[in-house]
Amino acid sequence: MNLDLATVVLLSALNTLMMSLALFSVRRADNAVLDRGLRHWAYGVVLQPAVWLLIALESRLPFWLSPLAANFLLVVAIAEFYRAFCLVTGASRAPRWTHFLAAGELAGAIVLTEVLHLAPVWHELWTTTILLILIALSAWRLWRVRTRPWLDSDRLCFAVFTIGTAILMARCIILGLSAFGVLDSGAGDFNLSMSVFFQSLPMIATLGIALMAKDRLQTELERIAAVDPLTSVANRRSFEAEAERTLLAAARRQTPVSMLLVDADHFKRINDRFGHETGDQALLEIVAALKDSLRASDLLGRYGGEEFAALLPDADQANAMHVAERLRAAVEIREFRVGDQVIPLRVSIGVATVVPEQGQSKLSLLLRAADLALYAAKAAGRNRVQAGTH
Ligand code: GH3
Ligand code: MG
Ligand code: MG
Repeated sequence: MNLDLATVVLLSALNTLMMSLALFSVRRADNAVLDRGLRHWAYGVVLQPAVWLLIALESRLPFWLSPLAANFLLVVAIAEFYRAFCLVTGASRAPRWTHFLAAGELAGAIVLTEVLHLAPVWHELWTTTILLILIALSAWRLWRVRTRPWLDSDRLCFAVFTIGTAILMARCIILGLSAFGVLDSGAGDFNLSMSVFFQSLPMIATLGIALMAKDRLQTELERIAAVDPLTSVANRRSFEAEAERTLLAAARRQTPVSMLLVDADHFKRINDRFGHETGDQALLEIVAALKDSLRASDLLGRYGGEEFAALLPDADQANAMHVAERLRAAVEIREFRVGDQVIPLRVSIGVATVVPEQGQSKLSLLLRAADLALYAAKAAGRNRVQAGTH
Protein backbone atom coordinates (compact mmCIF):
# COMPACT_ATOMS: atom_id res chain seq x y z
CA MET A 1 0.00 0.00 0.00
CA ASN A 2 1.29 3.39 -0.94
CA LEU A 3 0.38 5.98 1.64
CA ASP A 4 1.00 9.58 0.76
CA LEU A 5 1.59 11.35 4.06
CA ALA A 6 0.28 14.69 2.79
CA THR A 7 -2.99 13.15 1.57
CA VAL A 8 -3.51 11.26 4.82
CA VAL A 9 -2.88 14.45 6.76
CA LEU A 10 -5.24 16.51 4.61
CA LEU A 11 -8.07 13.99 4.89
CA SER A 12 -7.67 13.68 8.60
CA ALA A 13 -7.45 17.46 9.02
CA LEU A 14 -10.78 17.69 7.24
CA ASN A 15 -12.30 15.03 9.51
CA THR A 16 -11.03 16.73 12.62
CA LEU A 17 -12.39 20.06 11.45
CA MET A 18 -15.83 18.48 10.99
CA MET A 19 -15.57 16.92 14.43
CA SER A 20 -14.61 20.15 16.14
CA LEU A 21 -17.56 21.89 14.49
CA ALA A 22 -19.80 19.11 15.81
CA LEU A 23 -18.20 19.44 19.25
CA PHE A 24 -18.78 23.19 19.36
CA SER A 25 -22.43 22.72 18.46
CA VAL A 26 -23.24 19.97 20.98
CA ARG A 27 -20.89 20.70 23.85
CA ARG A 28 -23.57 22.16 26.21
CA ALA A 29 -23.50 20.03 29.33
CA ASP A 30 -25.75 22.20 31.58
CA ASN A 31 -22.98 22.30 34.15
CA ALA A 32 -20.66 25.28 34.08
CA VAL A 33 -17.42 23.44 34.88
CA LEU A 34 -18.08 20.50 32.56
CA ASP A 35 -19.15 22.95 29.90
CA ARG A 36 -15.89 24.88 30.24
CA GLY A 37 -13.98 21.59 30.12
CA LEU A 38 -15.60 20.63 26.84
CA ARG A 39 -14.96 24.12 25.47
CA HIS A 40 -11.22 23.80 26.18
CA TRP A 41 -11.31 20.40 24.53
CA ALA A 42 -13.00 21.91 21.46
CA TYR A 43 -10.22 24.57 21.27
CA GLY A 44 -7.68 21.75 21.27
CA VAL A 45 -9.52 19.89 18.53
CA VAL A 46 -10.08 22.92 16.32
CA LEU A 47 -6.35 23.66 16.33
CA GLN A 48 -5.48 20.19 15.07
CA PRO A 49 -6.34 20.65 11.36
CA ALA A 50 -4.25 23.82 11.25
CA VAL A 51 -1.31 22.02 12.86
CA TRP A 52 -1.46 19.07 10.50
CA LEU A 53 -1.88 21.19 7.40
CA LEU A 54 1.17 23.23 8.37
CA ILE A 55 3.18 20.07 9.04
CA ALA A 56 2.08 18.47 5.75
CA LEU A 57 3.09 21.57 3.79
CA GLU A 58 6.38 22.05 5.66
CA SER A 59 8.56 21.84 2.56
CA ARG A 60 6.63 24.69 0.90
CA LEU A 61 6.31 26.99 3.90
CA PRO A 62 8.79 29.31 5.59
CA PHE A 63 10.43 28.11 8.83
CA TRP A 64 8.41 30.43 11.06
CA LEU A 65 5.14 28.84 9.84
CA SER A 66 6.30 25.27 9.73
CA PRO A 67 7.71 23.78 11.86
CA LEU A 68 7.92 26.76 14.27
CA ALA A 69 4.24 27.83 14.44
CA ALA A 70 3.01 24.28 13.76
CA ASN A 71 4.90 22.85 16.76
CA PHE A 72 3.82 25.72 18.98
CA LEU A 73 0.15 25.27 18.02
CA LEU A 74 0.38 21.52 18.63
CA VAL A 75 1.66 22.21 22.15
CA VAL A 76 -1.16 24.73 22.72
CA ALA A 77 -3.72 22.19 21.47
CA ILE A 78 -2.47 19.35 23.68
CA ALA A 79 -2.30 21.79 26.64
CA GLU A 80 -5.98 22.56 26.02
CA PHE A 81 -6.69 18.82 26.21
CA TYR A 82 -4.90 18.64 29.55
CA ARG A 83 -6.84 21.65 30.84
CA ALA A 84 -10.08 20.07 29.68
CA PHE A 85 -9.27 16.89 31.64
CA CYS A 86 -8.56 18.95 34.76
CA LEU A 87 -11.98 20.62 34.57
CA VAL A 88 -13.92 17.50 33.70
CA THR A 89 -12.27 15.50 36.49
CA GLY A 90 -13.13 17.97 39.22
CA ALA A 91 -10.79 20.99 39.16
CA SER A 92 -12.71 24.24 39.54
CA ARG A 93 -10.32 26.15 37.24
CA ALA A 94 -8.12 25.21 34.34
CA PRO A 95 -4.41 25.44 35.26
CA ARG A 96 -2.68 28.51 33.83
CA TRP A 97 0.90 27.27 33.88
CA THR A 98 0.32 25.49 30.58
CA HIS A 99 0.42 28.91 28.88
CA PHE A 100 3.96 29.39 30.20
CA LEU A 101 4.88 25.92 29.02
CA ALA A 102 3.63 26.75 25.51
CA ALA A 103 5.46 30.09 25.55
CA GLY A 104 8.57 28.23 26.76
CA GLU A 105 8.27 25.82 23.83
CA LEU A 106 8.26 28.72 21.36
CA ALA A 107 11.09 30.59 23.07
CA GLY A 108 13.20 27.42 23.33
CA ALA A 109 12.58 26.60 19.67
CA ILE A 110 13.73 30.07 18.58
CA VAL A 111 16.85 29.87 20.75
CA LEU A 112 17.76 26.39 19.48
CA THR A 113 17.31 27.21 15.80
CA GLU A 114 17.92 30.94 15.36
CA VAL A 115 20.39 31.70 18.14
CA LEU A 116 22.33 28.47 18.57
CA HIS A 117 21.78 27.32 14.96
CA LEU A 118 21.47 23.68 16.04
CA ALA A 119 20.21 20.96 13.68
CA PRO A 120 16.37 20.70 13.27
CA VAL A 121 16.38 17.46 15.25
CA TRP A 122 17.02 19.48 18.43
CA HIS A 123 13.91 21.56 17.79
CA GLU A 124 11.94 18.34 17.30
CA LEU A 125 13.35 16.84 20.47
CA TRP A 126 12.45 19.99 22.42
CA THR A 127 8.82 20.07 21.20
CA THR A 128 8.38 16.32 21.67
CA THR A 129 9.63 16.54 25.26
CA ILE A 130 7.07 19.22 26.05
CA LEU A 131 4.31 17.23 24.39
CA LEU A 132 5.42 14.23 26.43
CA ILE A 133 5.05 16.24 29.64
CA LEU A 134 1.49 17.28 28.74
CA ILE A 135 0.37 13.85 27.53
CA ALA A 136 1.90 12.09 30.55
CA LEU A 137 0.27 14.61 32.93
CA SER A 138 -3.09 13.97 31.28
CA ALA A 139 -2.67 10.22 31.76
CA TRP A 140 -1.57 10.85 35.36
CA ARG A 141 -4.62 13.01 36.03
CA LEU A 142 -6.89 10.24 34.73
CA TRP A 143 -5.02 7.67 36.80
CA ARG A 144 -5.53 9.75 39.93
CA VAL A 145 -9.32 9.97 39.55
CA ARG A 146 -9.53 6.17 39.53
CA THR A 147 -9.94 6.07 43.35
CA ARG A 148 -13.42 7.47 42.90
CA PRO A 149 -15.48 5.10 40.80
CA TRP A 150 -13.28 4.68 37.74
CA LEU A 151 -15.68 4.97 34.86
CA ASP A 152 -15.23 3.21 31.52
CA SER A 153 -14.98 6.60 29.84
CA ASP A 154 -12.11 7.59 32.18
CA ARG A 155 -10.41 4.33 31.35
CA LEU A 156 -10.75 4.90 27.60
CA CYS A 157 -9.05 8.30 27.82
CA PHE A 158 -6.44 6.91 30.20
CA ALA A 159 -5.60 4.15 27.72
CA VAL A 160 -5.24 6.62 24.81
CA PHE A 161 -3.02 8.97 26.79
CA THR A 162 -0.92 6.15 28.22
CA ILE A 163 -0.26 4.80 24.72
CA GLY A 164 0.54 8.39 23.72
CA THR A 165 3.00 8.68 26.60
CA ALA A 166 4.77 5.47 25.52
CA ILE A 167 4.99 6.59 21.87
CA LEU A 168 6.34 10.00 22.82
CA MET A 169 8.89 8.48 25.18
CA ALA A 170 10.14 6.23 22.39
CA ARG A 171 10.26 9.20 20.07
CA CYS A 172 12.20 11.28 22.57
CA ILE A 173 14.77 8.49 22.87
CA ILE A 174 15.11 8.13 19.09
CA LEU A 175 15.40 11.91 18.64
CA GLY A 176 17.89 12.13 21.48
CA LEU A 177 20.06 9.45 19.89
CA SER A 178 19.85 11.19 16.50
CA ALA A 179 20.65 14.56 18.03
CA PHE A 180 23.87 13.13 19.43
CA GLY A 181 24.62 11.38 16.15
CA VAL A 182 24.19 7.84 17.49
CA LEU A 183 21.29 7.18 15.10
CA ASP A 184 20.42 8.31 11.58
CA SER A 185 17.83 11.05 11.93
CA GLY A 186 15.56 9.83 9.13
CA ALA A 187 13.14 7.74 11.23
CA GLY A 188 10.47 7.96 8.49
CA ASP A 189 8.24 5.04 9.51
CA PHE A 190 8.19 6.22 13.05
CA ASN A 191 7.21 9.72 11.93
CA LEU A 192 4.30 8.24 10.05
CA SER A 193 3.09 6.22 13.06
CA MET A 194 3.53 9.31 15.25
CA SER A 195 1.41 11.44 13.01
CA VAL A 196 -1.21 8.72 12.60
CA PHE A 197 -1.40 8.51 16.40
CA PHE A 198 -1.63 12.26 16.84
CA GLN A 199 -4.38 12.51 14.28
CA SER A 200 -6.44 9.65 15.70
CA LEU A 201 -5.95 10.95 19.23
CA PRO A 202 -8.57 13.73 18.97
CA MET A 203 -11.07 11.32 17.40
CA ILE A 204 -10.89 8.62 20.09
CA ALA A 205 -10.28 10.94 23.00
CA THR A 206 -13.13 13.28 21.97
CA LEU A 207 -15.49 10.35 22.22
CA GLY A 208 -13.88 9.55 25.59
CA ILE A 209 -14.14 13.02 27.09
CA ALA A 210 -17.70 13.53 25.82
CA LEU A 211 -18.62 10.28 27.61
CA MET A 212 -16.68 11.39 30.71
CA ALA A 213 -18.68 14.62 30.84
CA LYS A 214 -21.93 12.72 30.28
CA ASP A 215 -21.13 10.19 33.02
CA ARG A 216 -20.34 12.95 35.49
CA LEU A 217 -23.46 14.86 34.60
CA GLN A 218 -25.47 11.70 35.13
CA THR A 219 -23.91 11.14 38.57
CA GLU A 220 -24.73 14.73 39.49
CA LEU A 221 -28.32 14.40 38.26
CA GLU A 222 -28.73 11.18 40.23
CA ARG A 223 -27.50 12.97 43.33
CA ILE A 224 -29.88 15.89 42.75
CA ALA A 225 -32.76 13.47 42.19
CA ALA A 226 -32.05 11.73 45.51
CA VAL A 227 -31.77 14.76 47.77
CA ASP A 228 -34.34 17.18 49.17
CA PRO A 229 -33.34 20.62 47.85
CA LEU A 230 -34.21 22.54 51.02
CA THR A 231 -32.68 20.35 53.73
CA SER A 232 -30.19 18.27 51.71
CA VAL A 233 -31.33 15.06 53.41
CA ALA A 234 -32.63 12.14 51.33
CA ASN A 235 -35.97 12.76 49.67
CA ARG A 236 -38.84 10.33 50.09
CA ARG A 237 -38.02 8.29 46.99
CA SER A 238 -34.36 7.71 47.81
CA PHE A 239 -35.12 7.26 51.52
CA GLU A 240 -37.53 4.44 50.68
CA ALA A 241 -35.09 2.83 48.25
CA GLU A 242 -32.31 2.87 50.85
CA ALA A 243 -34.69 1.72 53.59
CA GLU A 244 -35.70 -1.33 51.52
CA ARG A 245 -32.02 -2.26 51.23
CA THR A 246 -31.51 -1.81 54.97
CA LEU A 247 -34.50 -4.02 55.75
CA LEU A 248 -33.23 -6.76 53.45
CA ALA A 249 -29.79 -6.65 55.08
CA ALA A 250 -31.39 -6.74 58.54
CA ALA A 251 -33.50 -9.76 57.59
CA ARG A 252 -30.36 -11.57 56.42
CA ARG A 253 -28.44 -10.69 59.57
CA GLN A 254 -31.43 -11.29 61.86
CA THR A 255 -31.14 -7.88 63.52
CA PRO A 256 -33.92 -5.46 64.50
CA VAL A 257 -34.65 -2.21 62.62
CA SER A 258 -36.62 0.77 63.89
CA MET A 259 -38.47 3.52 62.08
CA LEU A 260 -39.02 6.97 63.56
CA LEU A 261 -41.54 9.34 62.01
CA VAL A 262 -40.90 12.88 63.19
CA ASP A 263 -43.52 15.58 62.62
CA ALA A 264 -43.17 19.23 63.61
CA ASP A 265 -45.86 20.36 66.05
CA HIS A 266 -48.14 23.22 65.07
CA PHE A 267 -45.86 24.09 62.23
CA LYS A 268 -48.57 25.91 60.39
CA ARG A 269 -48.55 28.53 63.14
CA ILE A 270 -44.87 29.31 62.52
CA ASN A 271 -45.60 29.88 58.84
CA ASP A 272 -48.67 31.92 59.60
CA ARG A 273 -46.97 34.13 62.16
CA PHE A 274 -43.50 34.55 60.72
CA GLY A 275 -43.85 33.72 57.05
CA HIS A 276 -42.82 30.85 54.85
CA GLU A 277 -39.14 31.78 54.77
CA THR A 278 -38.87 31.60 58.53
CA GLY A 279 -40.75 28.31 58.28
CA ASP A 280 -38.04 27.04 55.93
CA GLN A 281 -35.33 28.15 58.37
CA ALA A 282 -37.18 26.35 61.15
CA LEU A 283 -37.16 23.15 59.07
CA LEU A 284 -33.39 23.49 58.61
CA GLU A 285 -33.02 23.97 62.34
CA ILE A 286 -35.04 20.81 63.04
CA VAL A 287 -32.97 18.81 60.52
CA ALA A 288 -29.75 20.06 62.13
CA ALA A 289 -30.98 18.92 65.55
CA LEU A 290 -32.01 15.51 64.17
CA LYS A 291 -28.71 15.00 62.35
CA ASP A 292 -26.71 15.90 65.45
CA SER A 293 -28.50 13.24 67.44
CA LEU A 294 -28.34 10.38 64.93
CA ARG A 295 -25.48 8.00 64.16
CA ALA A 296 -23.80 8.02 60.77
CA SER A 297 -25.31 4.61 60.01
CA ASP A 298 -28.86 5.90 60.59
CA LEU A 299 -30.80 7.02 57.55
CA LEU A 300 -32.60 10.37 57.63
CA GLY A 301 -35.07 11.50 54.99
CA ARG A 302 -37.66 14.19 54.43
CA TYR A 303 -40.89 12.29 54.23
CA GLY A 304 -43.34 15.09 53.61
CA GLY A 305 -43.65 18.86 54.18
CA GLU A 306 -42.66 19.07 57.85
CA GLU A 307 -42.34 15.37 58.44
CA PHE A 308 -39.08 13.44 58.58
CA ALA A 309 -38.29 9.74 58.79
CA ALA A 310 -35.28 8.13 60.43
CA LEU A 311 -34.43 4.48 59.97
CA LEU A 312 -32.22 2.99 62.66
CA PRO A 313 -30.52 -0.30 61.83
CA ASP A 314 -29.66 -2.56 64.77
CA ALA A 315 -32.02 -0.68 67.10
CA ASP A 316 -34.63 -2.65 69.08
CA GLN A 317 -37.67 -0.89 70.51
CA ALA A 318 -36.01 0.18 73.74
CA ASN A 319 -33.05 1.64 71.83
CA ALA A 320 -35.31 3.34 69.35
CA MET A 321 -37.43 4.94 72.10
CA HIS A 322 -34.25 6.19 73.69
CA VAL A 323 -33.04 7.72 70.40
CA ALA A 324 -36.48 9.19 69.69
CA GLU A 325 -36.54 10.87 73.06
CA ARG A 326 -33.07 12.23 72.41
CA LEU A 327 -34.25 13.67 69.07
CA ARG A 328 -37.34 15.22 70.64
CA ALA A 329 -35.27 16.85 73.36
CA ALA A 330 -32.61 18.01 70.89
CA VAL A 331 -35.26 19.90 68.90
CA GLU A 332 -36.85 21.31 72.05
CA ILE A 333 -33.64 22.77 73.48
CA ARG A 334 -32.58 24.25 70.14
CA GLU A 335 -32.84 28.03 70.30
CA PHE A 336 -34.33 29.15 67.02
CA ARG A 337 -34.10 32.92 66.88
CA VAL A 338 -35.75 35.34 64.52
CA GLY A 339 -34.44 38.80 65.33
CA ASP A 340 -34.52 38.93 69.12
CA GLN A 341 -37.39 36.50 69.40
CA VAL A 342 -36.92 32.82 70.22
CA ILE A 343 -39.41 30.60 68.38
CA PRO A 344 -40.10 27.32 70.17
CA LEU A 345 -39.70 24.22 68.01
CA ARG A 346 -41.34 20.95 69.02
CA VAL A 347 -41.74 17.58 67.37
CA SER A 348 -43.84 14.47 67.96
CA ILE A 349 -42.33 11.12 67.10
CA GLY A 350 -43.90 7.78 66.29
CA VAL A 351 -41.67 4.73 66.69
CA ALA A 352 -42.07 1.28 65.13
CA THR A 353 -39.67 -1.64 65.36
CA VAL A 354 -39.42 -4.78 63.35
CA VAL A 355 -37.69 -7.82 64.81
CA PRO A 356 -36.46 -10.65 62.62
CA GLU A 357 -38.49 -13.32 64.43
CA GLN A 358 -41.54 -11.78 62.89
CA GLY A 359 -40.28 -12.76 59.45
CA GLN A 360 -39.28 -10.41 56.68
CA SER A 361 -40.88 -7.05 57.23
CA LYS A 362 -42.38 -4.88 54.56
CA LEU A 363 -41.40 -1.23 54.58
CA SER A 364 -44.98 -0.14 54.04
CA LEU A 365 -46.11 -1.97 57.18
CA LEU A 366 -43.29 -0.49 59.23
CA LEU A 367 -44.15 3.01 58.03
CA ARG A 368 -47.80 2.48 58.73
CA ALA A 369 -47.06 1.36 62.28
CA ALA A 370 -44.83 4.40 62.84
CA ASP A 371 -47.51 6.67 61.38
CA LEU A 372 -50.16 5.29 63.74
CA ALA A 373 -47.79 5.82 66.66
CA LEU A 374 -47.16 9.39 65.48
CA TYR A 375 -50.90 9.99 65.32
CA ALA A 376 -51.20 8.71 68.87
CA ALA A 377 -48.40 11.04 70.01
CA LYS A 378 -50.22 14.00 68.46
CA ALA A 379 -53.50 12.95 70.05
CA ALA A 380 -51.82 12.60 73.43
CA GLY A 381 -50.80 16.26 73.41
CA ARG A 382 -47.76 16.55 71.05
CA ASN A 383 -44.07 17.11 71.94
CA ARG A 384 -43.78 13.46 72.86
CA VAL A 385 -42.60 10.05 71.70
CA GLN A 386 -44.96 7.14 71.18
CA ALA A 387 -44.13 3.51 70.44
CA GLY A 388 -46.32 1.57 68.10
CA THR A 389 -47.02 -2.09 67.67
CA HIS A 390 -46.00 -3.82 64.51
P1 GH3 B 1 -49.51 19.27 63.80
O1 GH3 B 1 -48.91 19.54 65.14
O2 GH3 B 1 -50.82 18.61 63.91
O3 GH3 B 1 -48.59 18.51 62.94
O4 GH3 B 1 -49.78 20.68 63.17
P2 GH3 B 1 -49.09 21.29 61.91
O5 GH3 B 1 -49.47 22.72 61.81
O6 GH3 B 1 -47.62 21.04 61.96
O7 GH3 B 1 -49.65 20.40 60.75
P3 GH3 B 1 -50.37 20.73 59.42
O8 GH3 B 1 -50.34 19.46 58.65
O9 GH3 B 1 -51.72 21.35 59.66
O10 GH3 B 1 -49.47 21.81 58.71
C1 GH3 B 1 -48.22 21.53 58.23
C2 GH3 B 1 -47.63 22.81 57.77
O11 GH3 B 1 -46.29 22.65 57.33
C3 GH3 B 1 -48.41 23.41 56.61
C4 GH3 B 1 -47.37 23.71 55.59
O12 GH3 B 1 -47.52 25.01 55.09
C5 GH3 B 1 -46.06 23.61 56.33
N1 GH3 B 1 -44.99 23.20 55.46
C6 GH3 B 1 -44.87 22.04 54.80
N2 GH3 B 1 -43.73 22.03 54.07
C7 GH3 B 1 -43.13 23.23 54.26
C8 GH3 B 1 -41.95 23.84 53.76
O13 GH3 B 1 -41.19 23.27 52.98
N3 GH3 B 1 -41.67 25.07 54.18
C9 GH3 B 1 -42.47 25.73 55.05
N4 GH3 B 1 -42.13 26.96 55.43
N5 GH3 B 1 -43.59 25.20 55.51
C10 GH3 B 1 -43.93 23.96 55.14
MG1 MG C 1 -46.98 19.02 61.86
MG1 MG D 1 -47.32 16.83 58.95
